[in-house]
Amino acid sequence: MADVTVIDPRFNSMVLPNAALECLGENFRWLEGPVWFADHECLLFSDIPNDRVMRWTEDGITTFQSPAGFANGHARDLQGRLISCSHQHRHLRRRELDGSTTILADAYEGKRLNSPNDVMVKRDGTIWFTDPPYGINTDYEGGKQAPELPANVYRLDPDGRLSIVTGDFAGPNGLCFSPDETRLYIAETGPQFSPNAPRHISVFDVTAANTLANPRIFHRIAPGAADGITCDSAGNLWSSAGDGVHCLAPDGTLLGKILLPGTVSNLTFGGRNLSRLFMCAGQRLFALYTNVRGIPWP
Ligand code: MG
Repeated sequence: MADVTVIDPRFNSMVLPNAALECLGENFRWLEGPVWFADHECLLFSDIPNDRVMRWTEDGITTFQSPAGFANGHARDLQGRLISCSHQHRHLRRRELDGSTTILADAYEGKRLNSPNDVMVKRDGTIWFTDPPYGINTDYEGGKQAPELPANVYRLDPDGRLSIVTGDFAGPNGLCFSPDETRLYIAETGPQFSPNAPRHISVFDVTAANTLANPRIFHRIAPGAADGITCDSAGNLWSSAGDGVHCLAPDGTLLGKILLPGTVSNLTFGGRNLSRLFMCAGQRLFALYTNVRGIPWP
């Protein structure tokens, strides 16, 4: 059975006593960016240092895209197209229905983006993404290049206009809207080579004008840090952590943990009824059926 720690009694009904932790694949280098395609019953996810995007189905795991520009986070837009962050090319891209690629954003005011890390599509069609320098700090995850911009979080409007929604992070990483999209959670993983730097999840109110307001610290993950984060349909936030996955109530209370043998980098709900939690954990892909459901797309 899965190694589950219940910290708040509310967590008892969110996990299943008879569901096993399943390892769906291993021998990757560093997994990230899982996105569920219910129509294809598949999960796409990045194996960043191997420069490939993988595809899991019940029949196994195959390579979806390689080379992949050292892709990291993925999302689907309102038309179902794949939106991807590329470390190597320092851009946000869209895969069209004919298989071609459209660059959505690669610069802000004439300066190149750093290495887009994670991305969310809001129901109004705007695309929100983080841009820390992690992918250009090393050759391992994209290739050393000099940053030209601070580590901002951006909103891309359907008309192509790119705006900074916050610049108040050293390393903005995973991000996630609450189910009603009135809140945006952003994980701060700090400067890459400063393990003692502040690491936490911040939460903002999303205004009617699509700006962010009222920033506050939502939760400090320990051990490790929050990288990818995802909400369930009740508004609980499921966060990656150094010892697995932590589940946080909308008020920031730690409800419980799914313990994994190592750091989790990112996660998403998928599978039947969006109740299966897919977890990218270093060199392995895990899944666990839960008793909650992810947020339906779109
Ligand atoms: Mg990330």
